[in-house]
Amino acid sequence: MAGNSASGGSVMGYYQDVDEAYYIDELVYEEERERLHYQRQEQASFKRAVAAEVKRQLKTLTPTGVASQQDQKPEKRKQPNSGKRVIVSCKCCDKPFKARVSDRKRGWGRFCSKSCSAFWKTHRRKWVA
Ligand SMILES: [Zn+2]
Repeated sequence: MAGNSASGGSVMGYYQDVDEAYYIDELVYEEERERLHYQRQEQASFKRAVAAEVKRQLKTLTPTGVASQQDQKPEKRKQPNSGKRVIVSCKCCDKPFKARVSDRKRGWGRFCSKSCSAFWKTHRRKWVA
């Protein structure tokens, strides 16, 4: 195009050239504007996607966060301790208490308290109040 108008060399050609240049400028401007528009749209949708992703991750983080994990741990620790229990009477003071079945099978869970166990160990007899 540029070579063509240069070989023309006429006044018309000069004006045409300017007009064309102007037109091309406008086209470039339009293209640039469109490109920027899409770029801005892309950036906006990207930002929206990032915001949504952050929101989603924050949502999933809060229930399993450090604080809630600490809350869950004691429950998990309690569970192995809280096996099936039976109400039995203390070998020492006859007071009914809950003993774990697994402990009873091992020969444990005979006393309601450590003090009863200690009393039995030393006196080998029932506690008489
Ligand atoms: Zn007891």
